[in-house]
Amino acid sequence: MTLQIAMNDWNGRARELTASLGMDNRNLAPTHSLPEENSISGLNQPMVEQLKLLAAAVCFAEDSVVITSSNLEFPGPEIVFVNRAFTRMTGYRSEDALGQTPRILQGEKTDRAALERMKADLKAGRVFYGEAINYRKDGTEFVNEWHIEPIYNDRKQITHYVAIQRDITGRKQEEARLIYEARHDSLTGLYNRAHFMTQLQNAVERAKHSQDYLFAVLFIDLDHFKLINDSFGHQAGDQLLTAVGQRLQNSIRPQDLAARWGGDEFAVLLDNIEDLSQVSQLTEEIRKQVQQPILLGHPNPEVLTTLSIGIALSSMGYESHEDLLRDADTAMYRAKSQGQGRHAIFTRTMHEQVRRRLQIETDLRYALKREELRLHYQPIVCLQTRRIVGAEALVRWQHPTRGFISPSQFIPVAEETGLISALGEWVLRQACLEVRQWRALAPASAPFVSVNLATQQLNHPQIVETVRGLLETTGCPPEAVKFELTESAIASDAEIAVTTLKQIKDLGIQLCIDDFGTGHSSLSRLSRFPIDTLKIDRSFIQGIGASDNRSKIAQAIVNLAQTLEMTTIAEGIETPEQLSQLRRWGCDRAQGFWLAKPVPAETFKQFLIKNSTLPTQ
Ligand code: C2E
Ligand code: CA
Ligand code: CA
Repeated sequence: MTLQIAMNDWNGRARELTASLGMDNRNLAPTHSLPEENSISGLNQPMVEQLKLLAAAVCFAEDSVVITSSNLEFPGPEIVFVNRAFTRMTGYRSEDALGQTPRILQGEKTDRAALERMKADLKAGRVFYGEAINYRKDGTEFVNEWHIEPIYNDRKQITHYVAIQRDITGRKQEEARLIYEARHDSLTGLYNRAHFMTQLQNAVERAKHSQDYLFAVLFIDLDHFKLINDSFGHQAGDQLLTAVGQRLQNSIRPQDLAARWGGDEFAVLLDNIEDLSQVSQLTEEIRKQVQQPILLGHPNPEVLTTLSIGIALSSMGYESHEDLLRDADTAMYRAKSQGQGRHAIFTRTMHEQVRRRLQIETDLRYALKREELRLHYQPIVCLQTRRIVGAEALVRWQHPTRGFISPSQFIPVAEETGLISALGEWVLRQACLEVRQWRALAPASAPFVSVNLATQQLNHPQIVETVRGLLETTGCPPEAVKFELTESAIASDAEIAVTTLKQIKDLGIQLCIDDFGTGHSSLSRLSRFPIDTLKIDRSFIQGIGASDNRSKIAQAIVNLAQTLEMTTIAEGIETPEQLSQLRRWGCDRAQGFWLAKPVPAETFKQFLIKNSTLPTQ
């Protein structure tokens, strides 16, 4: 009630009141001693006391308080009161502000729409909340957040407006900084994965509804980043990533978006593209710029980095951005597998292959449990005695609905997914159990079983223990087992491989290099490994009789093995000519369709019992 009276009468008495409180317009210094006597006419003492307190609260409030007249039309409301916080915030002392309109705070960047909304709200008698850029007396900007309340008289007419204002520049900057950090990668300054995902999601949604809108996603991986990081240190690695990030940003168009995906991976959204040729052209532009030599700073050398790029196009019709990213990633791996500095575009065929692979992966997990795998054995024959001396164990998968699946299809999947460990262990256990029986059936010829060992299995830290355990539990003599390794198994991580192979050899197991001649094993490396046998790759055997270089290589391998005191097996014998030629060269053993195809365990046992001689003329 008291306040209402005071407000109704404010216009006429404001100056009187503030003057009486020692807070008049010329004196904004804080004053805590309020005058005693009642100098305001028409109010009783308790009312005046209350008014003084309220006025003091307004004067000293932390927020800026401005009271204006109610005239909204030109020249606008007149400022009749400002408090100290207003002066602090704007630099305008009250004598500068009084009699002016709040327009003194407005300027070039002030949001006109907000002002229009304000006017409309105020005219309608509503409280207005808003924020806009305002200007201090010295011309500097700040973000002003304010709300305005209309003040009514007894006749329900608006007589004044009270505006409470606050400088929120700091808060806005902090908000902006947080938003920036949430969207950017701190090292490269590019957008981060989260922001990229959001933008991509929008693009996918847009593409669903608009036929003409096309975009592409590039998934980019730096070739050899690990090598650079390991050789020159993390700081150099960071420099490289930053440089790549900058170049990436410089090589794209304004509408495109480049992001750091994580590690040495980047992603680019090529927005609004016209056709495939434009994608290729933009991709090449990126490659051209990023693949320039990069200076890592003293003492590091200049490095050249190449990019493997996987591309997915929105024209494939994606339901979700995750699907699109998955395909770009698949294409990137395809590009990488084709060599460095390549790009690959995701296609329907690739999609089909991926789908099939995924299916194999899922089914393979069950195959082991449901006992859908079998081992077949392909006889290995001694070229001198013509007798069977052993067999290679070859895994077979009889899928319940899809029939026979070739090991060439599922072994690589098993290797990629790590299922190879379980699968390999199963194969080895079966083979060990089997060869024990063979030795009982044909003690004189003491047949061996040859088991293929995937590189991943060899690199498994527990491999030696696993093998030792299997030999024990199956009661299989170690000399009855041979491991077939690929050349790549001894090419990678040579030190570890040497140690592991020596330990396996110490168990009593023999070692054979499979598909010999197709890999990259150097002779010096070969001599460091405890290898017993070289298995000449099928492709060289096929050259025999064709009188080309392949045949000469086959002969050279036989000679090499003799020099290194290793034995030789020729695989893939399909003709009697191949066989007799190999015998003449001094090759020890042979295996191939012409001798015998891989057969089930029972059949192989029959061969042994009959003490069969296979056709070796
Ligand atoms: P690989 O080790 O080179 O095995 C020899 C492959 O050549 C076998 O194919 C065999 O059936 C085939 N072969 C044998 N003689 C002839 C011939 O005269 N002519 C022709 N054209 N081919 C012949 P398979 O059984 O399809 O195995 C393919 C590959 O799968 C194997 O190649 C091996 O790398 C892998 N593999 C098979 N079983 C296992 C296993 O238990 N573990 C692992 N890690 N890999 C296995
Ligand atoms: Ca083999
Ligand atoms: Ca082979």
